[in-house]
Parts: sequence; C-alpha cells; structure tokens
Amino acid sequence: MISDSIAAIATAVGEAGIAVIRVSGPDSIVEVEPIFKSRIKLTEAESHTVHYGHIIDPRSGEEIEEVLVTVMKGPRSFTTENVVEISSHGGVIAVTRVMKLLLQQQIRLAEPGEFTKRAYLNGRIDLSQAEAVIDLIRSKSDRAFGIALKQVKGDLSSKITAQRHTLVETMAHIEVNIDYPEHDVESLTSTFIKDKCSEVMEQITNLLKTAEEGKILREGITTAIVGRPNVGKSSLLNTLAHDNKAIVTDIPGTTRDVIEQFITINNIPLKLLDTAGIRETLDVVEKIGVERSRDAVNEADLILLVLDASQPLHMDELELMEQIRGRQSIVIMNKMDLPSMIDIDVIKRYFAPESIVSMSVKTQEGIDALEESISRLFFSGQLESNDLTYVSNVRHIALLNKAKQSLQDAYDAAEQLIPIDMIQIDVRLAWEQLGEIIGDTAGDSLLDQIFSQFCLGK
Ligand code: GDP
Repeated sequence: MISDSIAAIATAVGEAGIAVIRVSGPDSIVEVEPIFKSRIKLTEAESHTVHYGHIIDPRSGEEIEEVLVTVMKGPRSFTTENVVEISSHGGVIAVTRVMKLLLQQQIRLAEPGEFTKRAYLNGRIDLSQAEAVIDLIRSKSDRAFGIALKQVKGDLSSKITAQRHTLVETMAHIEVNIDYPEHDVESLTSTFIKDKCSEVMEQITNLLKTAEEGKILREGITTAIVGRPNVGKSSLLNTLAHDNKAIVTDIPGTTRDVIEQFITINNIPLKLLDTAGIRETLDVVEKIGVERSRDAVNEADLILLVLDASQPLHMDELELMEQIRGRQSIVIMNKMDLPSMIDIDVIKRYFAPESIVSMSVKTQEGIDALEESISRLFFSGQLESNDLTYVSNVRHIALLNKAKQSLQDAYDAAEQLIPIDMIQIDVRLAWEQLGEIIGDTAGDSLLDQIFSQFCLGK
C-alpha cells in the first residue's frame, strides 16, 4: 500500500497566468491544511470544491502566495488517492515558494509519471492506458490525440482482455483433458486448440495491421525537403507550417538533444528533418553538396523533392532524382503559375505519375493533391475510419508479435498431435505475453522504464 504523499508542478514552468501544483496521497489534504489559510478548513471541505485563500509559512504565519485550492477526495481522483491541486500565480518564483513549503510537510517531490503510476498501481487504469497518457501529452496531431484518447479509455485493453479470455478457456479445456486422460478426447481437443489459436491469431493480426499506420500517426513521418536553391522550399514550408501551426518540440535527455519540427498535412504529422538549421540544410545541393544531401535523404521516410517548373531541369536535379528513385518520395513541380519549361517526360522516367504533383505555392493550387499523394503513400485508405483501434506503441507491437508466434507454435504442435501438456505451455505463454501489454504480468523494471518517460507532474 502506498502511504506517502507526492507533489509536483503540473503545468509547464515559465511565464504564464497561473500554475498548478498537484499533491496526491492518502493524507494529502491533512498535510496541506497547515499551510493553507482560508475561511474553511481544508479537511472539512467537500470533494471537488475550490477554495480561495493563502499559502502561509506555518511557523511565521507569513502569507507566501494567493491561491485557489481544489480538493478531490479518493477514489474519485486521477490517482484514486486524495488529491489537492493548488493554482498559484504563474512564473517560477510563485510555484517554487509554494513547492518549498509543501516539501517541508510530509510530502516529497514526485518522480516523472508518478501520478499516473499511482493511478495504475491503485488499479484505476491498466498499463496500456497509462502509456496512452504519455501519447496524449506528446501527440502532434488531432489524429494521434484521438488514437491515444481511445487507448486511455481502455479500447486496446478490452480487446486484449477478450483475447486473453479465449485463451483461458482454451487452457481450462486442455487442463481437463490432462486431468482426465481416460476420456481420451485428444483429437477432439487438438481441433479445439487449433480453432481457438487461429481465432486469437486472427485478432492479433488485425491489430498488428494498424501498427505501421499507428506508429506513423504517433511519431510522424520523417521527412526531408530537398531541392536546388530558389525552387520554393522555404515558401512551401512556410505555407504548410502557417496553415498548421508548426509545433517545435524540445526533447532533452534523448541520446542527442534534438529539436524536431512537426507540421501536419491532412492530419498526418510530418517530422521535418534537421529543422534547427532548415535555412542552411534546405539548399542541400548547392551549399553542402550532394554528400550531405544524401545523408538527409537516407535518414528520411519521405522525401519531398521540389523543382521549379518554370526552369529546365538542372544537372543537380537529375542527380538527386537518380539518388531518391525507388524511395518513398514525391516530386513537387512548383511554380506552375508561371510558363512551364520543365521536361515532365524526363521526370516520369524516374517516378510514377501518382508521385508527381504540380503545384504553385504562390497561388496555393495543388496543395490538396500533395496531401492526397502523401496519404496514398503511407496509408491504405483506412485512415478515414475512426473506429479502428490503432496499436502504435513499440512495446505493444513486440508483445503482440511474440504472442502470435507462441500461438503459431501451439497450433503447429496441435497439428502434429504433440502431447497436450506441451501445447499448454505455449498457450500459457501467449496469455502471459498479452497480459504484459496491459500490465497484468509486468515486472518492476518495466514499470520504471515506462513511467520514467513521463514529464514531471503527470
Ligand atoms: P528556396 O530557396 O527553395 O527555399 O526557395 P524560396 O521559397 O525562397 O523561393 C524562391 C523564390 O521563388 C521566392 O521569391 C518565392 O516567392 C518564389 N516562389 C516560390 N513558390 C512560387 C510559386 O509557386 N510561384 C511563383 N511564381 N514564385 C514562387
């Protein structure tokens, strides 16, 4: 049982109107009370009510900060524990002063993700739901957000639970057969096992089908925009970024600190390569030479080659086309508002017609066609269907694949009429592997690893 209370700043630290500090623990309300001066005693406040008052230094009685305090009594809270949320003025100083006083009570600083971890440990959500909370926070497009939200609500969990239920039935059936071998219905049992294994394998396969797309929606398509100077790359980027509000994320603590810029096209997030120095790297051919451009191109999942349709093709462009031929790429013939000078037939020698888009960044013509081409390249038309459960988490994908393999082993064994107690081992393994997705069979180190990915205060 968890007995201590934790606190953390739940809002992003920086200049802002307000900041929220969250405290959770069985005794959190009692512990906050001595430093909160108000018309009402916090311990007598009803659940889900907000109270105006001041945070005070309990020793001197000095008013430290003017706040609103929200009380949420367990189990009707995010962690299922008693939760106190303190809304203070924004900015670093105010929250630091309040935090300092909290930490002088019996309250300690929360680890990243610890609130969510408590929600999990207290049984309010399972592991896949907890992981989806991270995805929610990190999502870069409406679409990715929607997928994560479904998973938070338990969409994936219920599918996994249903399959595990089928496997439990199967194991029970096998068990009876092991215990009462005199009934000798082995061949019947092996048919039963094969049927059940196929059934579950099919469901897993369906889930895995969504994995690639789910991963793209979550993580974005790594995209390189390449082309000669002055063909309109920056203009294109500005147009896309302007329409979609470029999101720049700063991810410290990864192997190298990177700045990623995301833009979304038709709800598909594109993760632009090396946008920290985009002005420099865009003009790959001229400024840093073909060698560097090859690196960018090699790293990308999607290459957008921008050409100026009002100019004849340049040697460099032929070289670039040669380089990216066969890769997931789209050729953008820009400046179609000007008289065309480009030789389309040459381009068609390198690229399929559906990968060639003519457009004008200036008049915005052809933007839709570009969006469509990208959708076509990465999605098999299911993107529009909202009721799919997408599996996007790498850990989940790996476990689904393992479970599928275990079931295949069980199926093959049943086919070869191998003794059923041997088959039982594989079925149980699959059941455990699926269980690991929802945290039913997860170890401590796995939990630490998962929750350490969270930001503070969540
Ligand atoms: P970059 O060097 O590839 O990034 O090219 P820029 O985006 O800086 O564009 C170079 C010039 O082409 C600028 O003067 C743009 O205004 C112009 N330009 C970009 N797109 C179009 C277009 O579709 N039509 C026309 N007429 N001019 C364009």
